[in-house]
Amino acid sequence: MRRNIVAGNWKMNNSFDEAEELVTDIAEYLEKNPVDDAEIIICPPFIYLEMTTDVSAESQFAVGAQNLCAYDKGAYTGEISAAMLAGLDVEYCIIGHSERRKYFGDTDEIIAAKIQQALKENISPIFCCGESLAEREAGNYKEVVQTQIEEALANLSADEMDNVIIAYEPVWAIGTGLNATPAQAQEMHAYIREILLENFSIAIANNTTILYGGSCNAGNAKEIFAQPDVDGGLIGGASLKANEFIQIITAF
Ligand code: PEP
Repeated sequence: MRRNIVAGNWKMNNSFDEAEELVTDIAEYLEKNPVDDAEIIICPPFIYLEMTTDVSAESQFAVGAQNLCAYDKGAYTGEISAAMLAGLDVEYCIIGHSERRKYFGDTDEIIAAKIQQALKENISPIFCCGESLAEREAGNYKEVVQTQIEEALANLSADEMDNVIIAYEPVWAIGTGLNATPAQAQEMHAYIREILLENFSIAIANNTTILYGGSCNAGNAKEIFAQPDVDGGLIGGASLKANEFIQIITAF
């Protein structure tokens, strides 16, 4: 179902005390100022999920993980399964983030398996795609994103696609302070809807939530979110400060 979403990806940041203060500040804001035109998702590191879902149970935001294991269960030392996340009331999971692709070897095949695991447990994948700077400069960025989407999603049913959120995150914009212009974001979001039309249906093309990610902040969120095919943002650095994140969740 298509809706406005702002999701905060904390990555590997914050001590426990800092994490608790940040979610509490956001929950206190939402208690006084309910946001009715956007869904808010907070994606902390694994070990803060339980604290975060405890706070979210009394608040308006939902909780996402940043990764999960491509396998069900068993001898996979250090991994966390989709079922374990579901047991903690985690409703979303970022899958295929460029940092996982770059540093941890997440291939399109592994990403597709992780999406299956998430959906099996009723966890909505926030599937990330996006081109590198070299790919943008070479002019083949649309093909790159098309391949990423088709490899990860093409085997899903219409019902499964209903639970998938796509985040378009140009790698050159992540953590660099160099965001895509609103026009660049709009071009790619419209193109992603064309890919969904080709591979699925007009309903899925129109109804899928597509977020922009890459140096989105309090200063540029409003203009980016105003683009017709942009449904909100996946926010990294700017989700670590309550004040700035609050300005972003109220930017619609
Ligand atoms: C991200 O990591 O998904 C992201 C968009 O990071 P940043 O906002 O810091 O560029």
